[in-house]
Amino acid sequence: MISLWLDGAPRLADDPLPDPRKHLDVLVVGAGLTGLTTSLLLARAGLRVACVEARAAGAVTTGRTTGKVSLLQGTRLSRIRRHRSEAVAAAYVDANLEGREWLLRFCDAHGVGYQRRAAVTYAAHDDELDAVQQEHLEAAARGLPVQWRDQLDVPFPHVGATVLADQAQLDAMEVLGALAAQLRHHGGTLHQGHRMRSASTDVPPAVRLDGGETLEADHLVLATGMPILDRGLYFAKLEPQRSYVLALDGADPVGGMYLSAGPDARSVRDAPGGRLLVGGAGHVVGRTERHVAHLEALRSWAATWYPSTAETHHWSAQDYSSPDGVPFVGPMPRSGGRIHVASGYEKWGMTNAVAAARTISATILGEPPPWAQVLSDRSTSPSAAAEVARINLGVGAAQVAGAARTLRERLPGTAGPAQANTCGIIGVCTHLGGLLKWNDAEQTWDCPLHGSRFSPDGEVLEGPATRPLVKRSGSLPE
Ligand SMILES: Cc1cc2nc3c(=O)[nH]c(=O)nc-3n(C[C@H](O)[C@H](O)[C@H](O)COP(=O)(O)OP(=O)(O)OC[C@H]3O[C@@H](n4cnc5c(N)ncnc54)[C@H](O)[C@@H]3O)c2cc1C
Repeated sequence: MISLWLDGAPRLADDPLPDPRKHLDVLVVGAGLTGLTTSLLLARAGLRVACVEARAAGAVTTGRTTGKVSLLQGTRLSRIRRHRSEAVAAAYVDANLEGREWLLRFCDAHGVGYQRRAAVTYAAHDDELDAVQQEHLEAAARGLPVQWRDQLDVPFPHVGATVLADQAQLDAMEVLGALAAQLRHHGGTLHQGHRMRSASTDVPPAVRLDGGETLEADHLVLATGMPILDRGLYFAKLEPQRSYVLALDGADPVGGMYLSAGPDARSVRDAPGGRLLVGGAGHVVGRTERHVAHLEALRSWAATWYPSTAETHHWSAQDYSSPDGVPFVGPMPRSGGRIHVASGYEKWGMTNAVAAARTISATILGEPPPWAQVLSDRSTSPSAAAEVARINLGVGAAQVAGAARTLRERLPGTAGPAQANTCGIIGVCTHLGGLLKWNDAEQTWDCPLHGSRFSPDGEVLEGPATRPLVKRSGSLPE
């Protein structure tokens, strides 16, 4: 399941790991859009920065995005306003505006292509119309020049839409390539294939990598999607949402970047070379019976509305939702202001990752922008507290369902489902002991609790886990 963007993208060059005896100002963990942008901003300011990446730059979410760079983000503003104040919603728009402008300026300056497109949030059916109208009002109230349309020039069903002209779409792997080149140009370094296993609470924090190396830096930035340290309990406040994307050949340009407002959303954009991207069919990671069925639902939708196209790629990816729609960005609790996190972009990371990079770098350098100060207030509204409860009820229910399934499926005397044993691993997540679910679409082990995912033989792919699955030793007991 390789994405259109990762297919053929060159692997970025690596630098030798920093000498552990030499002082690092900042160690950034994770080379997606958040990590590489943060690294570059700090290296440009003259700090000594290294970025370590467990897999390859872009391998997890950034290389599997749909790459819409937009201030109109589905029904995000209405969601934020349900939970947070007017000032927070306004700060969110300012943050994303700065994120979008920085990103497009960077693309212009470094020869990264993008296409200008209108962003569209549409109602596929009458029961989605209220939500779209509400978003239209929220966007207009924040000064976004949205326009209402009853009719769109698209074949799929719709009954109304709010449209924001002059947004953009891009190939995020091209952006990462340019960020890495600039990072190196400003004296920073990139080290792929090194997974952070743990970090000490010492001053300065010391990070242990999976090869046994230790690196120290004044500041540690966890740009890892879900934060990989458990202090702060982010895993209990973020919901991992996985969804699917198809790339189709033989389509005419669609002129807009579309997203429906309902729970089973559909996302549509075009891409250079006569391609069309269709996304959606999402679910909480590990909490579905047949992953393949989600892909089939998307294929069936695409075949109905774009019958003359042919699939060239299909893939899937996950991102994390916060309880109130506002990302978690800033210093981790009980880290003395030295460990920083950024997560919860809820599938709108192209602008939010850059805003997070700007927040973290400015915090380290001592002058965070005004909108970052507003967003750093994480006071929880009653409705957001109810969301946290809902997320954790889902986690509890998933663990109970996993235990029942394991009892049904497991081999005598073994832990976890029988299939895990046939893979030679124990099917229990190394993060917090979730009982893993086999993902038949991607041939992976997925944790239904907090979204960690593992290869068939137990290597960590993504999520908060930092250790591989335990191998089953010896033969099965009678
Ligand atoms: C299907 C889908 C479509 C999307 N479409 C859009 C869109 O159209 N527009 C938009 O704005 N946003 C979109 N998003 C969201 C956006 O792609 C993400 O929010 C963004 O790419 C996240 O970037 P990141 O750098 O934070 O995370 P990632 O790209 O996931 O990078 C995190 C990196 O950290 C590394 N890492 C993790 N743990 C460790 C460790 N222990 N040690 C070392 N490295 C580690 C990982 O290997 C990974 O490379 C979409 C998301 C999904 C899932």
